Amino acid sequence: MSENFAAFLYLVSGVLFVLALRGLSHPTTSRQGNFLGMAGMGLAVLTTLLLARPSFGALLIIVIGIAIGGGIGAYTARRIAMTAMPQLVAAFHSLVGLAAVAVAAAALYAPEAIGIGTIGHIHTQALVEMSIGVAIGAITFTGSVIAFLKLDGRMSGKPIMLPSRHLINLVLGAVLVLLVISFALTQSHLLFWLIVLVALALGVLLIVPIGGADMPVVVSMLNSYSGWAAAGIGFTLQNLALIITGALVGSSGAILSYIMCKGMNRSFISVILGGFGGDAAAASADAGPERTVKQGSAEDAAYLMTNAARVIIVPGYGMAVAQAQHALREMADVLKKEGVEVKYAIHPVAGRMPGHMNVLLAEANVPYDEVFELEDINSEFAQTDVAFVIGANDVTNPAARDDPSSPIYGMPILNVDQARTCLFIKRSLGSGYAGIDNTLFYKDNTMMLFGDAKKMVENIVKAMAH
Ligand code: NAP
Repeated sequence: MSENFAAFLYLVSGVLFVLALRGLSHPTTSRQGNFLGMAGMGLAVLTTLLLARPSFGALLIIVIGIAIGGGIGAYTARRIAMTAMPQLVAAFHSLVGLAAVAVAAAALYAPEAIGIGTIGHIHTQALVEMSIGVAIGAITFTGSVIAFLKLDGRMSGKPIMLPSRHLINLVLGAVLVLLVISFALTQSHLLFWLIVLVALALGVLLIVPIGGADMPVVVSMLNSYSGWAAAGIGFTLQNLALIITGALVGSSGAILSYIMCKGMNRSFISVILGGFGGDAAAASADAGPERTVKQGSAEDAAYLMTNAARVIIVPGYGMAVAQAQHALREMADVLKKEGVEVKYAIHPVAGRMPGHMNVLLAEANVPYDEVFELEDINSEFAQTDVAFVIGANDVTNPAARDDPSSPIYGMPILNVDQARTCLFIKRSLGSGYAGIDNTLFYKDNTMMLFGDAKKMVENIVKAMAH
């Protein structure tokens, strides 16, 4: 295959990736987006194979690798719970980082294979790309492993504050830059591995102090890093598809991080510097004076909602844990039959990743025109009879609006407290992801429905039938 034709096919695969991202931006087109992405990747792999014309032995190794990797990927994707998606993404990103390190090392030890020179005489441009790519890849690897361990509960989610951590990170960052320059000048293999070592340490040190509520932002930021690492390696390999894909992943990860920061009213810098969540959890430990809550039953909830004119459902992480979306849709169907207007309000950071709730509601065939974003529905709570909060907590916490001393102050919230009655399904008075108390539980117009979200909704549906 000629280089020009290969470049054309790479461009086509790049266009397919762009269309895939576009498709994935809405639940109605997301399946199509997935297929376009798969087609783009298939084309890119095929083009690379046709261009490289590997020997039979090498081809066999590649096919076995794809079969094993693809098999593990398909098996994991089928088995994973929606609630565990962020840690799965973190685990997969760690592999992208590791791959970037492996590819850069291969380029260093066999430069002639990809036409960037010979051992000891590699072009300077390739050396710079290689060293930056390997540094970002190594940071992504250990950073993602720590993010995975924290999100999966295998390591405490609390920020671990090392003394003088900013200074240590700054010094390591400076050492990394010096190593990259020295490596580009000397081509020393030892310096290459030192870059890897320092970057691995930096990945751990950067992520360990970040805790609790900020972790999904970190995952998306690491996603962005892994994209840039891939793009860097794409330049070294002079592979157009890798450059395009890396840039797409890099920029979409950065945009996603920005959207999450905006949804939580956190600056990107404050997320990177870490620390959010730990103090908050400590603050909620001393809960202050005893307060009482109004507790209701499924029958109470059924009565209130069937007699309402308007109900707004606010789903959160607890709905995902309980997998209550199907029962919830059933409940909404009954209400609609009774002539009640039902809408769903989605907070941009409800759940554990943007779009988490939309995906679950789509899975339960909730009509898209009943689902509204925060800014489109927030003004309607004041004219609503019942706000039905199911497994959401932080995204409804009025402290974010009213209490300047709260760690989540400034985060936009759904104004469920403005509804005539606020029904709250959760299992206890426990806190949400940010680890802080929610004053809403103790308000006069709030009725707590303690229990598992799915069971409680099923009981409400039963009570509505009577
Ligand atoms: P949340 O504040 O984490 O609260 C979820 C609530 O669900 C918990 O308080 C828990 O209370 C309840 N729950 C858990 N399992 C349940 C079950 N089986 N049945 C009923 N209730 C259950 O959730 P959220 O309101 O969706 O807020 C999302 C949080 O994640 C925010 O702090 C946000 O900043 C953070 N975050 C999200 C993203 C994102 O992109 N979505 C990104 C970064 C950070 P009980 O234990 O009492 O049941």
